[in-house]
Amino acid sequence: MITLEKVRQRAESDAKTYGYYLHPDPDFLKDLLEGLKRNEERYGYPSCPCRLASGKFELDRDIICPCDYRDPDVQEYGACYCALYVRKDLYEGKTPILPVPERRPMEKQVRTYGTAVAQSALEKPAEKAEVTPQESAAEIKLKLWYCKQCGYVVFREEPPYICPICKAKRELFAEIKIHVDIRG
Ligand code: SF4
Repeated sequence: MITLEKVRQRAESDAKTYGYYLHPDPDFLKDLLEGLKRNEERYGYPSCPCRLASGKFELDRDIICPCDYRDPDVQEYGACYCALYVRKDLYEGKTPILPVPERRPMEKQVRTYGTAVAQSALEKPAEKAEVTPQESAAEIKLKLWYCKQCGYVVFREEPPYICPICKAKRELFAEIKIHVDIRG
């Protein structure tokens, strides 16, 4: 089993190699590292702690930390999507750490969410043989929402009160309906 210290060392070493820093808040940083550790134990690879993974390596490849989007995000915004990796000026508090918009293409997100819902249905106990993706989604009570103002997408029970990207109010979120066929 991988230890939290190992996860931390790996992130520190990677940050050093690329001239980045890890998030300056120790508690926030610890949460992210624990998320990476949990994902590695669950899936066998450290998928991004801020995104839902499908559990299928081929679908999740781009969000294995450090993800494909880290370098362009740090270049453009000074931080990766989760703010695990930050630029020096953000680390030193000279520039605020602000929300970073999702750079992962929408079709990859939807494919991942659909697979995760289907996977959840397939993992249901044997006594309930017929389980629809809708039932499964209802059971885990998560829905896919997008902000009509900026396109931010989030997978949770309810839309957020305020969009973390453009600050739009909850009323501007709409649900994306996922249709998943798990019959084979
Ligand atoms: S957004 Fe940051 S924490 Fe998430 S996978 Fe990319 S580099 Fe890692």
